[in-house]
Amino acid sequence: MPFDLRGSIGELEVAGGAAELAGPLTAKGVATSIGDGVYVEANVRGSVRLTCSRCLSPFQKALDLSCEAKFVEKSDAAPAAEEEEVEVFALHGKLCDLDEMVRHEIVLCLPMKPLCSERCKGLCPVCGKNLNEGDCGCPKPDEPPSAFGRKLQEAVVERSRKDGRT
Ligand SMILES: [Zn+2]
Ligand SMILES: [Zn+2]
Repeated sequence: MPFDLRGSIGELEVAGGAAELAGPLTAKGVATSIGDGVYVEANVRGSVRLTCSRCLSPFQKALDLSCEAKFVEKSDAAPAAEEEEVEVFALHGKLCDLDEMVRHEIVLCLPMKPLCSERCKGLCPVCGKNLNEGDCGCPKPDEPPSAFGRKLQEAVVERSRKDGRT
């Protein structure tokens, strides 16, 4: 049974805060009736609104996920989830709660520390200005030295140690 859904799911709980959906999600896929439930394969597209962990700006991330899940009728027997290759969710009545599956997949794919861009410059530690919007001109003496600079620093420390002995 193929399906093509468009809808929205509630707030997403992710590490470091909540992510918000930026518009409706679409889920296309196939639901197949199997012995003890329904097997669902779906492609989910949409986008979420996240906050950059470096510059704290909101940004959108496109989602394009392939989900696979099995929905089984709740039984009192302990679920054999460990042996399953796909996620198993409970059938609510006779309905597959795709929300649950989609939410699960999205949370799995979201980064722990979202970045608006790989090259995000973050905020100025002195004045707090978003450095992606331009340099603020603050002196940044605390900038860690590059690998090259560290080598030089070590050489200088070494040298001053020797000087100290003589
Ligand atoms: Zn950023
Ligand atoms: Zn600054």
